[in-house]
Amino acid sequence: MKLRLLPNTIDGLAVTGRQHFTCFVIDDLVAVDAGCLANSTTETEKDKIRDVVLTHAHLDHIAGLPLFIDDLFDTLESPVRVHASSEVVNILENDIFNWRVYPRFSELTNRFGPVMEYREIEPAKPFEIGHLSFEAVEVNHKVPSVGFLISDGMSVIALTGDTAEMDHFWRKVNSLEKLDGLLIECAFPNRMKELAEVSHHLTPSLLRSELEKFDIDDCPVLAINLKPMYRTETARELEELKFQSLRTLIVGEEYEF
Ligand SMILES: [Zn+2]
Repeated sequence: MKLRLLPNTIDGLAVTGRQHFTCFVIDDLVAVDAGCLANSTTETEKDKIRDVVLTHAHLDHIAGLPLFIDDLFDTLESPVRVHASSEVVNILENDIFNWRVYPRFSELTNRFGPVMEYREIEPAKPFEIGHLSFEAVEVNHKVPSVGFLISDGMSVIALTGDTAEMDHFWRKVNSLEKLDGLLIECAFPNRMKELAEVSHHLTPSLLRSELEKFDIDDCPVLAINLKPMYRTETARELEELKFQSLRTLIVGEEYEF
Protein backbone atom coordinates (compact mmCIF):
# COMPACT_ATOMS: atom_id res chain seq x y z
CA MET A 1 0.00 0.00 0.00
CA LYS A 2 1.31 3.42 -1.00
CA LEU A 3 0.54 6.49 1.08
CA ARG A 4 1.51 10.12 0.61
CA LEU A 5 0.65 13.25 2.57
CA LEU A 6 0.17 15.87 -0.12
CA PRO A 7 2.51 18.85 0.25
CA ASN A 8 0.56 22.01 0.87
CA THR A 9 2.48 24.96 2.26
CA ILE A 10 4.74 27.23 0.23
CA ASP A 11 7.49 29.68 1.05
CA GLY A 12 7.91 31.96 -1.93
CA LEU A 13 7.72 29.59 -4.89
CA ALA A 14 9.04 26.54 -3.03
CA VAL A 15 7.02 23.84 -1.30
CA THR A 16 8.02 23.43 2.33
CA GLY A 17 7.78 20.46 4.68
CA ARG A 18 5.19 22.23 6.80
CA GLN A 19 1.61 21.07 6.98
CA HIS A 20 -1.35 23.42 7.17
CA PHE A 21 -3.77 20.92 5.65
CA THR A 22 -4.25 17.17 5.91
CA CYS A 23 -4.85 15.09 2.81
CA PHE A 24 -3.36 11.61 2.42
CA VAL A 25 -3.62 9.80 -0.91
CA ILE A 26 -3.58 6.01 -0.82
CA ASP A 27 -2.62 3.97 -3.89
CA ASP A 28 -3.39 7.04 -6.05
CA LEU A 29 -7.11 6.30 -5.66
CA VAL A 30 -8.49 7.33 -2.28
CA ALA A 31 -8.04 10.56 -0.38
CA VAL A 32 -8.15 10.36 3.40
CA ASP A 33 -9.18 13.88 4.40
CA ALA A 34 -9.31 16.64 1.86
CA GLY A 35 -7.49 19.64 3.29
CA CYS A 36 -5.43 20.36 0.16
CA LEU A 37 -7.10 17.93 -2.23
CA ALA A 38 -7.81 20.59 -4.86
CA ASN A 39 -4.61 22.62 -4.83
CA SER A 40 -2.00 19.88 -4.28
CA THR A 41 -3.09 17.33 -6.89
CA THR A 42 -1.99 17.18 -10.53
CA GLU A 43 -4.54 16.76 -13.35
CA THR A 44 -3.64 13.04 -13.54
CA GLU A 45 -4.16 12.62 -9.80
CA LYS A 46 -7.47 14.48 -9.98
CA ASP A 47 -8.65 12.11 -12.72
CA LYS A 48 -8.10 9.05 -10.51
CA ILE A 49 -9.47 10.11 -7.12
CA ARG A 50 -13.22 9.58 -6.81
CA ASP A 51 -13.41 8.54 -3.15
CA VAL A 52 -12.75 10.84 -0.21
CA VAL A 53 -12.79 9.41 3.31
CA LEU A 54 -13.10 11.94 6.14
CA THR A 55 -11.93 11.67 9.75
CA HIS A 56 -13.78 14.81 10.89
CA ALA A 57 -15.01 18.17 9.67
CA HIS A 58 -12.36 20.59 10.92
CA LEU A 59 -11.34 23.05 8.22
CA ASP A 60 -7.77 21.81 7.77
CA HIS A 61 -9.21 18.39 6.87
CA ILE A 62 -12.01 19.43 4.49
CA ALA A 63 -11.01 22.78 2.95
CA GLY A 64 -10.09 21.27 -0.41
CA LEU A 65 -13.27 19.23 -0.87
CA PRO A 66 -15.59 21.97 -2.23
CA LEU A 67 -12.84 23.23 -4.55
CA PHE A 68 -11.99 19.71 -5.76
CA ILE A 69 -15.58 19.07 -6.83
CA ASP A 70 -15.79 22.56 -8.32
CA ASP A 71 -12.62 21.91 -10.39
CA LEU A 72 -14.03 18.64 -11.74
CA PHE A 73 -17.69 19.65 -11.99
CA ASP A 74 -17.95 19.63 -15.78
CA THR A 75 -15.95 16.48 -16.44
CA LEU A 76 -17.05 14.08 -13.68
CA GLU A 77 -18.49 10.96 -15.30
CA SER A 78 -19.22 9.49 -11.88
CA PRO A 79 -19.82 11.33 -8.61
CA VAL A 80 -17.16 12.03 -6.02
CA ARG A 81 -18.09 9.73 -3.13
CA VAL A 82 -17.63 11.28 0.30
CA HIS A 83 -17.36 8.59 3.00
CA ALA A 84 -18.08 10.17 6.37
CA SER A 85 -20.07 9.71 9.58
CA SER A 86 -23.60 11.12 9.73
CA GLU A 87 -22.33 13.85 12.09
CA VAL A 88 -19.72 14.96 9.57
CA VAL A 89 -22.19 14.80 6.66
CA ASN A 90 -24.57 17.06 8.63
CA ILE A 91 -21.82 19.57 9.29
CA LEU A 92 -20.82 19.60 5.61
CA GLU A 93 -24.39 20.09 4.43
CA ASN A 94 -25.32 22.72 7.04
CA ASP A 95 -22.10 24.69 7.29
CA ILE A 96 -20.20 24.28 4.01
CA PHE A 97 -22.42 23.12 1.12
CA ASN A 98 -25.28 25.40 2.22
CA TRP A 99 -25.41 27.73 -0.84
CA ARG A 100 -23.94 30.52 1.31
CA VAL A 101 -20.41 29.24 1.85
CA TYR A 102 -20.48 27.01 -1.26
CA PRO A 103 -23.03 25.35 -3.59
CA ARG A 104 -24.79 22.22 -2.37
CA PHE A 105 -23.10 19.84 -4.79
CA SER A 106 -25.10 16.86 -3.49
CA GLU A 107 -28.15 18.39 -5.25
CA LEU A 108 -26.39 19.25 -8.51
CA THR A 109 -25.82 17.23 -11.64
CA ASN A 110 -23.72 17.69 -14.76
CA ARG A 111 -24.41 16.11 -18.17
CA PHE A 112 -23.36 12.68 -16.82
CA GLY A 113 -25.38 12.73 -13.57
CA PRO A 114 -24.72 13.55 -9.89
CA VAL A 115 -21.35 15.10 -9.06
CA MET A 116 -21.14 14.22 -5.37
CA GLU A 117 -22.72 11.65 -3.11
CA TYR A 118 -22.36 10.72 0.54
CA ARG A 119 -21.64 7.23 1.84
CA GLU A 120 -22.28 7.19 5.57
CA ILE A 121 -19.82 5.26 7.66
CA GLU A 122 -20.03 3.91 11.19
CA PRO A 123 -17.40 2.56 13.57
CA ALA A 124 -17.05 -1.23 13.47
CA LYS A 125 -18.76 -1.47 10.06
CA PRO A 126 -15.96 -2.07 7.54
CA PHE A 127 -16.43 -0.78 4.00
CA GLU A 128 -14.57 -1.30 0.75
CA ILE A 129 -13.25 1.13 -1.80
CA GLY A 130 -11.77 -0.76 -4.75
CA HIS A 131 -9.07 -3.08 -3.42
CA LEU A 132 -8.89 -1.24 -0.08
CA SER A 133 -10.92 -1.98 3.02
CA PHE A 134 -11.54 0.62 5.70
CA GLU A 135 -12.86 0.43 9.21
CA ALA A 136 -13.62 3.57 11.21
CA VAL A 137 -12.47 3.61 14.83
CA GLU A 138 -13.63 6.28 17.29
CA VAL A 139 -10.91 8.56 18.63
CA ASN A 140 -10.98 11.41 21.15
CA HIS A 141 -11.10 14.83 19.51
CA LYS A 142 -13.08 18.00 20.21
CA VAL A 143 -15.69 17.10 17.57
CA PRO A 144 -17.01 13.72 16.36
CA SER A 145 -13.93 12.11 14.82
CA VAL A 146 -12.72 8.73 13.72
CA GLY A 147 -9.43 7.15 12.79
CA PHE A 148 -9.17 4.29 10.32
CA LEU A 149 -7.78 0.82 9.91
CA ILE A 150 -6.90 0.47 6.24
CA SER A 151 -5.94 -2.75 4.44
CA ASP A 152 -5.12 -3.67 0.86
CA GLY A 153 -5.35 -7.39 1.63
CA MET A 154 -1.61 -7.64 2.31
CA SER A 155 -0.74 -4.72 4.59
CA VAL A 156 -2.71 -3.06 7.35
CA ILE A 157 -2.17 0.43 8.68
CA ALA A 158 -3.89 2.42 11.42
CA LEU A 159 -4.34 6.18 11.21
CA THR A 160 -5.67 8.23 14.11
CA GLY A 161 -6.58 11.55 12.51
CA ASP A 162 -6.72 14.30 15.15
CA THR A 163 -6.99 12.98 18.69
CA ALA A 164 -6.09 13.30 22.36
CA GLU A 165 -5.65 10.32 24.72
CA MET A 166 -7.42 7.16 23.58
CA ASP A 167 -8.43 3.80 24.99
CA HIS A 168 -10.87 2.27 22.54
CA PHE A 169 -8.51 2.88 19.60
CA TRP A 170 -5.69 1.02 21.34
CA ARG A 171 -7.92 -1.93 22.24
CA LYS A 172 -8.91 -2.20 18.58
CA VAL A 173 -5.35 -1.87 17.26
CA ASN A 174 -3.90 -4.30 19.83
CA SER A 175 -6.46 -6.92 18.82
CA LEU A 176 -5.13 -7.02 15.23
CA GLU A 177 -3.06 -9.99 14.11
CA LYS A 178 -0.57 -7.67 12.48
CA LEU A 179 -0.01 -4.01 11.81
CA ASP A 180 2.40 -2.61 9.23
CA GLY A 181 2.23 1.05 10.17
CA LEU A 182 0.73 3.38 12.76
CA LEU A 183 0.16 7.02 11.91
CA ILE A 184 -0.62 9.05 15.01
CA GLU A 185 -1.09 12.75 15.53
CA CYS A 186 1.22 15.04 17.47
CA ALA A 187 0.00 18.60 16.94
CA PHE A 188 1.83 20.71 19.53
CA PRO A 189 5.24 20.90 21.24
CA ASN A 190 5.47 20.04 24.95
CA ARG A 191 5.38 23.66 26.12
CA MET A 192 1.87 23.99 24.63
CA LYS A 193 0.39 21.11 26.64
CA GLU A 194 -2.49 23.26 27.93
CA LEU A 195 -3.61 24.25 24.46
CA ALA A 196 -3.18 20.64 23.33
CA GLU A 197 -5.43 19.42 26.14
CA VAL A 198 -8.11 22.04 25.61
CA SER A 199 -8.22 21.38 21.85
CA HIS A 200 -7.92 17.58 22.23
CA HIS A 201 -4.53 17.08 20.61
CA LEU A 202 -1.26 15.40 21.61
CA THR A 203 2.25 16.66 22.40
CA PRO A 204 5.39 14.47 22.20
CA SER A 205 5.23 13.61 25.91
CA LEU A 206 1.49 12.84 25.72
CA LEU A 207 2.20 10.75 22.63
CA ARG A 208 4.88 8.86 24.54
CA SER A 209 2.28 7.96 27.22
CA GLU A 210 -0.11 6.83 24.50
CA LEU A 211 2.52 4.52 23.02
CA GLU A 212 2.70 2.75 26.42
CA LYS A 213 -0.74 1.37 25.50
CA PHE A 214 0.44 0.07 22.10
CA ASP A 215 1.29 -3.63 22.29
CA ILE A 216 2.56 -4.39 18.79
CA ASP A 217 6.36 -4.54 18.56
CA ASP A 218 8.40 -3.55 15.52
CA CYS A 219 5.59 -1.58 13.91
CA PRO A 220 6.77 1.68 12.29
CA VAL A 221 5.15 4.66 14.01
CA LEU A 222 4.83 7.92 12.10
CA ALA A 223 3.84 11.20 13.75
CA ILE A 224 1.39 13.23 11.67
CA ASN A 225 -0.58 16.50 11.86
CA LEU A 226 2.24 18.57 13.35
CA LYS A 227 1.06 22.21 13.50
CA PRO A 228 3.09 24.07 10.86
CA MET A 229 4.41 26.91 13.02
CA TYR A 230 5.87 24.53 15.64
CA ARG A 231 6.91 21.72 13.31
CA THR A 232 10.67 21.98 13.90
CA GLU A 233 10.27 22.14 17.68
CA THR A 234 7.75 19.29 17.83
CA ALA A 235 9.81 17.09 15.49
CA ARG A 236 12.93 17.68 17.64
CA GLU A 237 11.04 16.70 20.80
CA LEU A 238 9.73 13.59 19.07
CA GLU A 239 13.28 12.63 18.13
CA GLU A 240 14.44 13.20 21.72
CA LEU A 241 11.92 10.60 22.91
CA LYS A 242 14.17 7.97 21.29
CA PHE A 243 11.20 5.64 20.96
CA GLN A 244 12.57 2.88 18.70
CA SER A 245 10.31 2.97 15.65
CA LEU A 246 8.92 6.51 15.93
CA ARG A 247 9.62 8.99 13.09
CA THR A 248 7.98 12.19 11.94
CA LEU A 249 6.18 11.63 8.63
CA ILE A 250 7.73 13.68 5.86
CA VAL A 251 5.28 15.80 3.90
CA GLY A 252 5.22 14.80 0.21
CA GLU A 253 7.20 11.57 0.67
CA GLU A 254 5.71 8.34 -0.63
CA TYR A 255 5.55 5.60 2.02
CA GLU A 256 5.16 1.94 1.16
CA PHE A 257 3.59 -0.42 3.70
ZN1 LIG B 1 -9.31 18.59 14.26
